[in-house]
This record gives sequence, C-alpha cells and structure tokens, in this order.
Amino acid sequence: MNTDFLRSDTGFYKRRDKTPKPQPSPSTPDAPEPPCPYIVREVTPDQVCILTFDNPDSSANIFDRTTLKELNDQLNFIRSTPELKGVILASAKPSIFIAGADLKAIADAVEHSPGDLRAMIEFGQRTFSRLASLPIPTVAAMHGATLGGGFEVALACDWRIASPDRATKLGLPETQLGVIPAWGGSTRLPRLIGLPAALDVILAGKSLAAPVALKRGLVDELAPKQYLVDIAKRRILDRGLSLKNRTPSLRLSATDNALTAAAISMWMHPKLSRRTRGHYPAVTQALEMITDGISKTVEKSLALEVETFLKLAQTPACRNLVRGFFLQERSKKLAVTPAHVSTTAAPARPRYESASSIRRAAVIGAGVMGSGIAQWLATRGLPVILRDINADAVGKGVSSISKLLAQAVERHTLTQVEARAAMDRIYPAAFNAPLASTDLVIEAAGEKMPLKQQLFRQLDEQAGPDTILATNTSALSISEIASATAHPDRVVGLHFFNPVHRMQLVEVVYARQTHPEVLRRTLRFVQQIGKLPVLVKDSPGFLVNRILMPYLIEAGHLFEAGARVEDIDSAMLDFGMPMGPLRLIDEVGADISKHVADTLVGHYADRLETPAVLERMIERGWLGRKSGHGFFTHDGKDATPNHAINEFRLADTARRLSREELQRRMVLLMVNEAARCLEDQVVSEPEDVDFGMIMGTGFAPFRGGPLRYGDSAGMSKMVDEMNRLVDAGAKRYLPCPLLQNMAVFGGRFYERG
Ligand code: NAD
Repeated sequence: MNTDFLRSDTGFYKRRDKTPKPQPSPSTPDAPEPPCPYIVREVTPDQVCILTFDNPDSSANIFDRTTLKELNDQLNFIRSTPELKGVILASAKPSIFIAGADLKAIADAVEHSPGDLRAMIEFGQRTFSRLASLPIPTVAAMHGATLGGGFEVALACDWRIASPDRATKLGLPETQLGVIPAWGGSTRLPRLIGLPAALDVILAGKSLAAPVALKRGLVDELAPKQYLVDIAKRRILDRGLSLKNRTPSLRLSATDNALTAAAISMWMHPKLSRRTRGHYPAVTQALEMITDGISKTVEKSLALEVETFLKLAQTPACRNLVRGFFLQERSKKLAVTPAHVSTTAAPARPRYESASSIRRAAVIGAGVMGSGIAQWLATRGLPVILRDINADAVGKGVSSISKLLAQAVERHTLTQVEARAAMDRIYPAAFNAPLASTDLVIEAAGEKMPLKQQLFRQLDEQAGPDTILATNTSALSISEIASATAHPDRVVGLHFFNPVHRMQLVEVVYARQTHPEVLRRTLRFVQQIGKLPVLVKDSPGFLVNRILMPYLIEAGHLFEAGARVEDIDSAMLDFGMPMGPLRLIDEVGADISKHVADTLVGHYADRLETPAVLERMIERGWLGRKSGHGFFTHDGKDATPNHAINEFRLADTARRLSREELQRRMVLLMVNEAARCLEDQVVSEPEDVDFGMIMGTGFAPFRGGPLRYGDSAGMSKMVDEMNRLVDAGAKRYLPCPLLQNMAVFGGRFYERG
C-alpha cells in the first residue's frame, strides 16, 4: 500500500483503529499481549475505510478462519458506521495481496471432518456476500499474488485496481487443485466478464498478469503500486455509488442465459473430457456447475458451488493435487540435513560459512542450457558473465536470451524496463574473462567428461577462492568432474531442466566431497532465484533421468517388438503423462536420448539396454523434432506417426498387447526404479521422488507421483505382475528388495492413502 499516505506530514489524518499494544501493568508483569490483528483498519478524514490485510505471523496473507472472522468483524463495524463513504481492501505485504484460502485447514477438514469443510466454505461465502451487499462502494487495491479466495474477495468488491508489476498475478487456480472456486468465484466471475470468458479463466486455472487481467475484464484499471490506495480512494470519493450500480454490458445478456449456457456446455464437455481423459473431474464439474448456475439466482448458484466443491474435495485427484501443492511449499523451505551431508566432507574450509548469498554469477557455455540459465539469473537481478569458445557462440547465446526476454514481455511476465535491465546484466565474454569476483560459476558446456574436467581444472585457477563451481551435467559423475580440481569440496551439481524458463525443478546434486556449506549456499541460491530444488546424491542419472530413462528405453523396446507408435504414446497419455514417451524422445532428440541412455546402461547393465532403434534413427538423420523426423513426422506444432520408421522393428511379439498392458509395462519400471532411488538413498524421502518426477517429467500429478501411485495400485499386486514378466523372460522387471519386502509385509511408502 502507499505508505506516504500514512505519513502524518502528508496532511492526512490517520486513525488507526488497531488495538494499541497494551503496556504491561506493574501488577501483571507477564500479562499476555492480545494477538495482533490480521486486518488493520484505518478511517481517513473523508470517511473512507481502509482494511489492510497483514497477517502478523506470516509473510503471506491467506484466508484462514481467523482472517475470515476478522473480516466479518470489520463488516459489522462498517455496517454500523453510516458516515463511511466507501471501503478499500489492501495489503501490507510486499508481493502478496491475498494468496488464497488456507489449504492446510481445507486438507485437514477433508481428512478428518467433512462437516467442518462445509462450514468453512459456507462461512467464506457468507462473508464475501456480506461484503458484496454493503450499501457503500468497495474497491480492491491489489498488488502481488491475488489468487483463489484472494481474487474471490476482490470479485465481491465493486471496483478492482491492480498494479502492473510482475508480482501481481490474478486468477482462480482451484481446478488445478482438483476443486472449483467456491467462495463465489464460479458465480461472480461469469456475471462480471461473461460466461465464455469466465470459463476460459476458471477451467484453465491459470493466473494472469495484471495487463492481461485488465484486457479480459477481471480488473477495471491498473495503477502503480505506490498509488493504488490513493487512486482507490479517489474513485470512491469521485464516483460514489455509480461504482456500485454498474449496468452489465449487453454482451453479457447474450451469453449469460440458460439456452446459451446449455449450448456451451454441450459443445465443451466432450472436448474437455478428451483433453483431461477423465482424470481431472474438477474441470468438467466446473463447466457443469457454472453453466447450470448462470441462469439461477446468485444464492442458488452459490449453493451449487458448495455442493460441487464438497463432492470434488473427496476425490483422490484432489487429494493428490493438493499434496502436489504442499510438495512445492516443502521444496521452497527445503534445508540441508545430516542425511545430505557426507561424513567424509571435511569441514576444512571455514570461509564458506561466512559467505553471504550469491550476488554475481558466471555461466560457461552459451548453448541451449547456458543461455536459458543466464537469462533466468539476469531476470532475478544477478549480473551474469556468459562465456563460450568464440564470439559467434556467445553471440548466439545472447540472441537467444534476447528472444526469451522479448517473449516474456509479450506474455507480460516481464515489463519492457525489466527485460532491458535483465539484458544489461548479461556480460558476454568470448575469452577467459576474470571470474575472481563471482560467487558462483555454472558450467553448461557439452556433455563430455574430458571437456568438463578440463574446464573445471581451469575454473579452479580462474575463480576466486570462495567461488562455488557448479555443473549442469545431465548424467556425468560430479565427483569425477570435481576430481580435476584442487578443491573438489566446492564442486556441486546444479541440474536445470529444459526449457529453463518453464521448468521449475532444479536437482541440487551433492557429491561425496561437497562441503556442507557449499551445498547449503547452493540450495539457498536455487530458492533465491525462485526455482524449486530437490536434493539429490551424486549417482548415475541423479533422480529424474534415472527413473525416466528406463521408461523411455522400454517404450523403444516395445516399439522394436512390434507395438505401434500411436498405441505406445496413447497408453501413457491415458495414464496421465503430458506427452507420450516416443514423442518425448523426439523432443529431446534421438542423439541426446541415446547418449543419456548409454550413460545409464553403463551403470545399470543388469536391467537396461539401449534400444537399437535409437542408433538406426541417428544413422538415418531422424533425430526427432529438430530434424523433422523421428518416431513422428513434425510439422510446426503438429506431429503424426512416421510410418517409415517401422522398418526398424525387430519382432512383432508386442503387436497385440493391449494399451493397458503397454501402460503397465512402462509404469512398473518407473515404480521399480523410483523405489531403488530410495533404497540407494539418492534422495531421503518418498516425497522427494514424487516431487521430482511430477515437476521434472510431468508424471501424472493427479496420481501423486510414482511412489504414491505404487501405494494406491497395491504393492503385492505390482510385485506379482513384475514377477510374472520376469518368469516370461523379462529380467529387467525383477522387483527391487524394497518392493519385495513391502509386498510381503504389506508396507507402504506413505502412511495415509
Ligand atoms: P549445447 O550444445 O546447446 O551448448 C553447449 C555450449 O557449450 C556450446 O555453445 C559450446 O560452444 C559451448 N562450449 C563448448 N566447449 C566450451 C568451452 N571450453 N568453454 C566455453 N563454452 C564451451 O548444449 P546444452 O544442451 O546447452 O547442454 C549443456 C549441458 O547441459 C550439458 O552438460 C547437458 O548434458 C546439460 N543439460 C542439457 C539439457 C538439454 O535438454 N539440452 C538439459 C539438462 C542438462
């Protein structure tokens, strides 16, 4: 909010109704202080009431029971103060208006007390309806995350002003959590912007940048964050009740009626069912609820919201999607524990302990990954030296950074000014630029051990004594790379995923010799730049590629054994993967896929063998998307099966396998390898495995990850199936000891289903 406005020297009279903190009285020296309010109320001399959300216990504002109750108390005050001219909702948090409802309380209520859940939803609805029915104009002045319940409270206001900052994101992401907006969002948004536009926002569950939200009518105007409250006040004083009594546009009456709603529902339902393959009931239920509710009264539509929400909250999809949300929160707070620290890492370099956060970085290699990483760091405020072998290679990197920045401006994720500032933070270097003042060097040159070792040997001399040396290798041993340096304790893996600007996951890989403080700083750095880390022990394939590759390799074997390209891919799309495995090989490139497969086969030859088809594809020049042909023929965004590739088949034993059987074979290998990662302590918790796979590969989020899926499918059933395949000659299915034990003793990865 605009703090200038609060300064007494502005001439404004500021009345803080916030209960003054009591001074401890001498007679009761230990008297507890009353709790700080979550909503601070001020009434300006011209009788505008400003409610500023400021949760004293957290850096975020959310709608929990206390905040809702306080909002009700404030509404009581407003109703009993007839001289008030209007109400402004604002936030004191630097980058959050209100981030949504208290998901933890909702998840607990789903688990333990469905009655409480109904009460919570109805309480929120009643509160926001009371706000909506105030006789004076209400304005939401929004800067920062305004999501879910946070946007629903804004929808209950008469006027919405947002800051155009990158931090401001508005929307109703509930369907992404397996439910629908049920604090009035599914009722009020269609009545504000029309049914088709509202369905677009709610069914996708995406949050919008403020300029996009303005264009779509979700907000009424944009204003710089420091003027939001002033402008909100101006609107109230200048326009008064006309803010309240806005006539809905004629366009809305054309779409928001029972007949059009029924037609839209009939047209969209089959499309959505095909798209979600029945795995995301919230999307189709939202469509039904909203198209049904649009011709009803607001009260009846709100009642529909409640019933739909309660039904969806009980679905396994919702539980797993909410768990996915909590896994992200867990990653944001992840810390290094003794489980991650090798006992052989000597605490011999105390200087790391005093080092502060990473402020300057260098990226070696300006290719696909190096330029992506440099772009990301620069937009997060870090100056970055970008180095490659010659001016041409650096120039290519700089031009792809410039393209990425332009796209970010187009998508409104960056402003022009922010993009230009980011570009200014890139220091291209086609020579051995001095690296002594950098806190972190990330190597992203080619995937070859001799090259990486040579680079690290040089970096050891070029970098300052405290500089952390990280490699973005996909599969090479961190220890082996580190062995080329005089100080292997400062070497760590930082495995970003492609494309860097879209993929939030980063594997932070610690080797035997990595110094604990180096690991801590690197982990904090990943969190500082807004990526989601998972801590992984240095081992072949780390976590994500180790589990993904057996699956891709099996898809290749099934193809060689006669299964059709489209059947293999459809089987896994039906399972809930975002892309079929053969299409994924095409996207990654047959050459790169083979390289990673070969590396893993070198370590796990007992169960992996690179499919010959990859070599044949490389010989033919069918590298996938980049060459136009692979398992598919690519034309722009379209891909159709490349039938000519069938000549690389070796047998037809898999030709008649059902899609279910194909699916089972690929998934069983992923679950088995995921369990092995726990067995080998590549990560310390099942949550790490599931989180890594959901974020790194898009593993069916509604299933909760491969280990959660293993629990729900039943371990003894899975192990029986694996043994059946082993008996039929496929030794690669041999269940790992952990799974065998769990099958015998009825074990699970998670306590609760
Ligand atoms: P790339 O071929 O696109 O880029 C490599 C760049 O490194 C090239 O510009 C090359 O000129 C440069 N280079 C080579 N030798 C150099 C040297 N001595 N000094 C400075 N620059 C040098 O490769 P990429 O796809 O960006 O991969 C880079 C690293 O990231 C590899 O280790 C790869 O395994 C890993 N990785 C790649 C992906 C992916 O999907 N492409 C994903 C994760 C990790």
